[in-house]
Amino acid sequence: MSLIDKVDFHVHVAERYPYKYSVEEVIREAERRGLSYMTLTDHWRPYDPDPCTFLWERREIDRIKTKVKVFLSAEVDIVDSEGHSPVKPSLHKEVIEAMDYLSAASHLGEPWTCEYGKSRIPMDKLEIIEYEHKKHLSILRNEMFDVILHPYGSTVAWLYREGHAKTFSLKEIPEVYLREFAEYAALYGKGVEINNVPLAAEKEGVKGYERITEGYETFIKILLEKGAKLTIGSDCHYCDKHWHWPGWTKEAVQIIKRCGGSDEDLWLPKGIR
Ligand SMILES: [Zn+2]
Ligand SMILES: [Zn+2]
Repeated sequence: MSLIDKVDFHVHVAERYPYKYSVEEVIREAERRGLSYMTLTDHWRPYDPDPCTFLWERREIDRIKTKVKVFLSAEVDIVDSEGHSPVKPSLHKEVIEAMDYLSAASHLGEPWTCEYGKSRIPMDKLEIIEYEHKKHLSILRNEMFDVILHPYGSTVAWLYREGHAKTFSLKEIPEVYLREFAEYAALYGKGVEINNVPLAAEKEGVKGYERITEGYETFIKILLEKGAKLTIGSDCHYCDKHWHWPGWTKEAVQIIKRCGGSDEDLWLPKGIR
C-alpha cells in the first residue's frame, strides 16, 4: 500500500449540534482503518457552526494520542462568484491560527448572498457554468485557502437541479474551463480534491450518478497534465454507515491511479511536504 491509499483529507465531525460523533471516535475509526493522515474539515458557513467549534476540535486533536497524523481544517463556504466567505481575518484570528490550513468549496450557498449585496442568481445553463467557474477561480487565487474541495460538484448539482443536465457528470463543464482551472491550481499550488462520494454513488447505482467516471477521468488527466496537486477525500459525515467512514477513498484512489497519478501527485499539508 502506498501513501495515496492511506490518506483522507475530508472528514466531518460537527455537522449539526448536538454532534453525533466525538473527535475521538472519528480518530479511533481512522486508526482502525489504517490511515496515515486525516483532516477534519467541518463546514464553516455564514451562520453555522459557531467558529468556536473549531477551537474545541483543535483542543481534542492536541489531547488525543494516536498514530494517525490528524490535521485541522474547515470546509469554508464560498458564497458568490466574487469569492466572499464567512471567514473574516480580523474577527476570526484565533480560529484561523488554530487551523493547520483552510479548505474551501462551493455549495450553492447563494441564498445567503443578500448579506454580500449580490442580487441576481443565474438560471441559464451557460450563465450558471460561468458564474461557478468564476467562483472556483476566486478560491484558487485566494491566499487564505490551500485546498479546494469537490470542484464543480456544486456546479453539476445546480445544472441537474435546474433540469439542464441529466446526471452529475463533469462532462457538463466545458474542457476549456477545466483546463483554465487546472492551470490556476498548479500556478497557485492548491490541492484539488478528488471526492469519493460521486464515484461511490455511481458504483451503488444511485440515480443521477450514471457514467460519472468518464467526466472525472477527463478532469484528472487535465489536472495531472498541468501539474496540479491532488487531494483525496471521503467527505464522510457519519462513520460506520454505508460509504460514510473515514478512509473510504477507494474509488478516488483507483481512478487517480488509472489516470497515471501516484504519491508524487498528492498535495500534502505543510510540515509533511
Ligand atoms: Zn462540501
Ligand atoms: Zn464536506
